[in-house]
Amino acid sequence: MPDESKQITRIDLQPEEIIRSVKTRFRACNYLFNTGAIWLGVGAILNLLSAISNDRSYFEFAFVIMMIGTAIFTAAFALTLAIYRCPVCDTYLSRFRKDKLRCPSCNAQVKESK
Ligand SMILES: [Zn+2]
Repeated sequence: MPDESKQITRIDLQPEEIIRSVKTRFRACNYLFNTGAIWLGVGAILNLLSAISNDRSYFEFAFVIMMIGTAIFTAAFALTLAIYRCPVCDTYLSRFRKDKLRCPSCNAQVKESK
């Protein structure tokens, strides 16, 4: 019996659809990363202020804010692993891949060339 599983997972998409889809996925992950970064940043500033002013009263509050930031970051990481994939072959697209314009596995164009 021929193995057809690979053919089933390969979806025929228009190049614009692939690029648009990857862009949306990247944006969703990026927003979540930025949200996490904002919480972490605010927490770090509060932490610093608490240390400078020697007022420990909001140290715990700053810690909680930083924990929320870390939690959002972790979620962003998980989401990226789950959805930041090539729409054609489902390969994970690393942010640090060599060729940002193309999928490393199936060579489909995933980003507009500028
Ligand atoms: Zn691919």
